[in-house]
Amino acid sequence: MTDPMPELFARARAVIPGGVSSPVRAYGSVGGTPRFIASARGPYVTDVAGREYVDLVMSWGPGLLGHAHPEVVAAVQAAAARGLSFGAPTVAEVELAEAVRARVGAVEEVRFVSTGTEATMTAVRLARGATGRDLIVKFAGCYHGHVDALLAEAGSGLATFALPGSAGVPAASAATTIVVPYNDVAALEAVFAERGHEIAAVVTEAAPANMGVVPPAPGFNAALRRLTAEHGALLVLDEVLTGFRVGPAGWWGLEGVADGYTPDLLTFGKVLGGGMPLAALGGRADLLELLAPTGPVYQAGTLSGNPLATAAGLATLRLADTDVYARVDAAARVVADAAGAALEAQGVPHRVQRAGNLFSVMLGEAAARDGVASYAQAQRQDVFRYPPFFHAMLDAGVALPPSLYEAWFLSAAHDDAAIERILAALPGAARAAAAA
Ligand code: PMP
Repeated sequence: MTDPMPELFARARAVIPGGVSSPVRAYGSVGGTPRFIASARGPYVTDVAGREYVDLVMSWGPGLLGHAHPEVVAAVQAAAARGLSFGAPTVAEVELAEAVRARVGAVEEVRFVSTGTEATMTAVRLARGATGRDLIVKFAGCYHGHVDALLAEAGSGLATFALPGSAGVPAASAATTIVVPYNDVAALEAVFAERGHEIAAVVTEAAPANMGVVPPAPGFNAALRRLTAEHGALLVLDEVLTGFRVGPAGWWGLEGVADGYTPDLLTFGKVLGGGMPLAALGGRADLLELLAPTGPVYQAGTLSGNPLATAAGLATLRLADTDVYARVDAAARVVADAAGAALEAQGVPHRVQRAGNLFSVMLGEAAARDGVASYAQAQRQDVFRYPPFFHAMLDAGVALPPSLYEAWFLSAAHDDAAIERILAALPGAARAAAAA
């Protein structure tokens, strides 16, 4: 049978920019033709040609329980039978908000939206509305969705305003943002010393995983809390990726409770919706009450709190018990260790970086020697070694994220059989990386 993917991709590109609904899916940085997926179950995805892959993308994070968990699917089917969308309050969204609050002690109230981008966009507007200030501080290499003010790149000096990170972002929008190197408390102190009274919020990934996995240095997030509090700015912890994935209360549950820092606002998505379009902004009640209709900060959504999405989220959180997290942690440890060992055996300079059960592989001498603590360091990798590594894994039936700058996602459904297939594929992929 001829491979149907090239023809499908050509057809897709004729009607969809790049043939994809989100850029990274186009295989731009690894080359080749993306697989069109027909179905997924547990740790596996199956393409339209019937080939099955062990999936290490898991929809970029949501699939904590594995694909198509029967109880989650049943909950969505039952909800669908009752109606797809009402545009009115539902009991399920109240229950889900209560479940989020019960898990994450930093959350008093929750506003549901449909995407992580909306959650961080709302956080930015709310922070500005609450403080009467315009400036947002973000860190280079952190991704918070395609919000104008957060698609920004560092300007020429430390406390200078950012430049647009995309065509179409007005310079005036980027100029409301200051971009600081990650894990650099001294740089942030300098920014606050100069502009502290103008800063509405510092927005940070709880543990960055969008420049590869770059854990916060011990005390870094706590230092953000201290500096923002000293200057009357808010701390927004973006847990869209880490929330309900690295533990029952996300990264904050792993680190923040012990370190004694509490963010003002948190954003969630991905696992929260169990694979359906659902995200949320949570945090201090006095801040959340500033949102419409109780407050002056406008925010709304036709499909917000959609009943199918809240059904999937509720079922997912109910199932995500300590045993699930233990299984994901263990699977991640085995695969991360094996990836490191395979590269080691082939003499490929690398470093495996971890944040809870999230990990990614960094390639190159600099990463191997110094580790990666910032975006500047993340960019100094042997990126040319990743495409052959990726394609060798794909050919062996393992679907990695099609970019070096992404975490590898495990799930509670990655059982021994799935993990065996990953471990069997790694040595050949490491050989391909070594030969590049
Ligand atoms: N924040 C973080 C930390 C993310 O990883 C992402 C998505 N990868 C977003 C926000 C944006 O979420 P969405 O793609 O649902 O808009």
